[in-house]
Amino acid sequence: MKTVDLLIKNGIVITMEGPGTGIINDGSVAIEGGKIVAVGETAEVCREYDGHRVIDARNKVVMPGFIDCHAHSCDAIVRGLAQDVDNWLYKAIWPITSNLNPDDIQVGSLLHIAESVLNGTTTICDMVYNADIIVKNHLKIGNRVILTEMIHENPSDIFRYDPMDVYPFDHSVGEGKFARCRKLVEQYQGYSDDLVTVMVGPQAINMVSLELMDELHHYAVSNDLHIHIHVSQSDRENVQVEKRYGKRAVPLLNDRGYLGRHVMAAHISHATRPEVKMMADSGARMILCSNSIAIINGVLPPAAEYLEYGGTVGLGTDQAPGNNRNNMFSEMKSSAVLNKYKLHSGTAFPAWKLLRMATIEAAKTVGLDSIIGSLRPGKKADIIIVDMTRPELSPLYLEPIRNVVPNLVYAADGSEVETVIVDGRIIVEERKLLHADLALLVNEANRHASEISKRLSAFDGLGNLPVAKFTAEGLY
Ligand SMILES: [Zn+2]
Repeated sequence: MKTVDLLIKNGIVITMEGPGTGIINDGSVAIEGGKIVAVGETAEVCREYDGHRVIDARNKVVMPGFIDCHAHSCDAIVRGLAQDVDNWLYKAIWPITSNLNPDDIQVGSLLHIAESVLNGTTTICDMVYNADIIVKNHLKIGNRVILTEMIHENPSDIFRYDPMDVYPFDHSVGEGKFARCRKLVEQYQGYSDDLVTVMVGPQAINMVSLELMDELHHYAVSNDLHIHIHVSQSDRENVQVEKRYGKRAVPLLNDRGYLGRHVMAAHISHATRPEVKMMADSGARMILCSNSIAIINGVLPPAAEYLEYGGTVGLGTDQAPGNNRNNMFSEMKSSAVLNKYKLHSGTAFPAWKLLRMATIEAAKTVGLDSIIGSLRPGKKADIIIVDMTRPELSPLYLEPIRNVVPNLVYAADGSEVETVIVDGRIIVEERKLLHADLALLVNEANRHASEISKRLSAFDGLGNLPVAKFTAEGLY
């Protein structure tokens, strides 16, 4: 008998191994040194292993933590201030965030991370400005993070320009952000045995010059880094790129040789069918942010087509102002419901596929499927434990038919997550963050919100904000 650091036993173990969900009705997981050393039937695992710490997971699901493939944690400080608008970027998020300072952003990011982790996300693909500061938030809470410094070449008052005209480029802005990206890579790529990894992040092809895009692409390829980019996320992007280069975003990316397996593309929501095929054929991975894009644009991104062309799709929550949650349970359900509706088919996007798109397919999307995304000996112990005795998840059927996976996808809301483990380390226990004080964090965010409100009162664009109008009319 070997004694490991942590033994989770008697649980309903969803391994996400194999073609489906790899579920074991009575399973156990042995964890040592941050990694899974055994997973299988309780009788077999417990014959070989005991634990210095043992968690009895009877009537609980034990499964890989979720991987949120696309998020902007900083924006959580303005949650609820940007939605129910047309032209979200210009009328809402850009004017509002132009009033934020680095401290606001840092506090907002902590709030986002806390929300995500408490709802079962163990890896966040965070695309932010000042990633060297934001990384500390992730390290504090203890989750895994894939960081991207968001790189563009636009002036700070970009929202005052005509959206259908090409953006002006300020090369000094782009070079400054690229320098931050390189520094981040030097400091954090692979940090703490891959608790932190880094991607290269051109914000979108209409927001960087081709000269800079060449540099970023070359840097990523020569350093074996992935590129995290928004692709064809609006008509505006396609119109601008066509005006400047004579072709739409996806053909431009393809013709310039920027696409490929190292690319992780958010949204692709305004691509044509041939463009979706072009993306999938290149090996680029797609991130589906159903809630965000539906709320912002009233559009469902073409994940069904992407899968049809053999592409890989992972789920993402995007940002709090315009989702307005960072909760992968919510993403799974919305993605299923919206795609069933779009395809007029109850069999489309079944629960087990959504669970895969939030775990193992998400791991493939972010390029870390060799270390996370499923429960297998040798992989990192990034695990969540979900209470299945809650009324919305009851009753439980296990033999001869099972309802565990559909209940998780269609009925759970995240509040059922009891325990969150990252790298073998417990970071949430009994629904409490162990390394941050949630009440303090919320107080701090509220303090910043009142400072931001004062700044917004003096902001010359306040009257144009839909949220100001809705508030004045007593509708919000
Ligand atoms: Zn985004």
